[in-house]
Amino acid sequence: MDAAKASGADALLVTHGPDVRWLSGFTGSNGAVALIGGRAVLFTDGRYSEQARAESGDLRVVIGKKFAAGLAVEWLIERGATKCGFDARQTTVAGLETMRKALPKSMGAARRGFFTATEGLTARLREIKDVDEIRTMRKAATLGCELFAGLQGQIQADATEMDLALELELQARRGGAEGMSFETIVASGKRSTLPHGKASFQTLPKRGFVTFDFGVVVDGYCSDMTRTVHMGRGSPREHAVYDAVLEAQRAAVAAVAPGVTCGQVDEAARAVLQRAKLGKWFSHSTGHGVGLEIHEGPRLAAKVEQVLEPGMVITVEPGVYLPGEFGVRIEDMVLVTDVGGEVLTAASPKSWTEI
Ligand code: ZN
Ligand code: ZN
Repeated sequence: MDAAKASGADALLVTHGPDVRWLSGFTGSNGAVALIGGRAVLFTDGRYSEQARAESGDLRVVIGKKFAAGLAVEWLIERGATKCGFDARQTTVAGLETMRKALPKSMGAARRGFFTATEGLTARLREIKDVDEIRTMRKAATLGCELFAGLQGQIQADATEMDLALELELQARRGGAEGMSFETIVASGKRSTLPHGKASFQTLPKRGFVTFDFGVVVDGYCSDMTRTVHMGRGSPREHAVYDAVLEAQRAAVAAVAPGVTCGQVDEAARAVLQRAKLGKWFSHSTGHGVGLEIHEGPRLAAKVEQVLEPGMVITVEPGVYLPGEFGVRIEDMVLVTDVGGEVLTAASPKSWTEI
């Protein structure tokens, strides 16, 4: 709310699902949280009356027949709101239009200026995880490591990428995951050059890399990890690229500490790959925050000045993709502690693995 006040607002309306969940505990769709004068209220509709009350603890819940954001706007007007912040990054044009329609006509010209765009106020707060959130994220990260260990026996030349993705997802559910954080990536052979190669019906090669990038959702929180293994004997070049990516990944993990900028962590990885003359093929940023959403702040990319703070959970995932040849990526989840970084996915080995 303080941040909203800085933009001249005396009220804040939060409608983005993960933000609503973080503020209220409510996990359903069509939820909105209105904040004014130190008070917060959750709005939703009749489908969720029991669930909303069960999930949102002491927070007041208002159930209505309308779009939750519309109800929230009416409530804020009744409480004397004159300027209301909303998240411009998460609100659609149609959503804003519906919010505007909830304003009484009697407001006249004041309707125009009632909503003021803010950006990611709640998302920014969500970047720092509390003790409970960290405990949950540890669980998710550990489950991810266990699933990958369990998959080892099935990574065989006659399996398809899809077989492996399905097995991972089946065991994830059995292991207590609500679902996957994103569509599982299994990219083998030449497909390993695709940083986002979703599992296909291609059979694994007899020789070549296979990249697995996957995550599970536990109590709403996402995990995210990548391991790249090699089928058969690797060539000297494959070894050299793998070693460089691993060294870059370790250098970036070692750079993680409170007070360090996101750009410095990115640079730690990039410098290693540049020295190995592979910098050109590291075509994405080094990592991202993870939590209720698979991609959230902070962004670990070149020149990002944002400083790491204790409680942030980030990924460190440099990769090298040689067009027409092969790709290698290694990704861990790292918790920023008071003194440095703690790898949450350390249970999964990342040294060269030949199958
Ligand atoms: Zn990933
Ligand atoms: Zn990631």
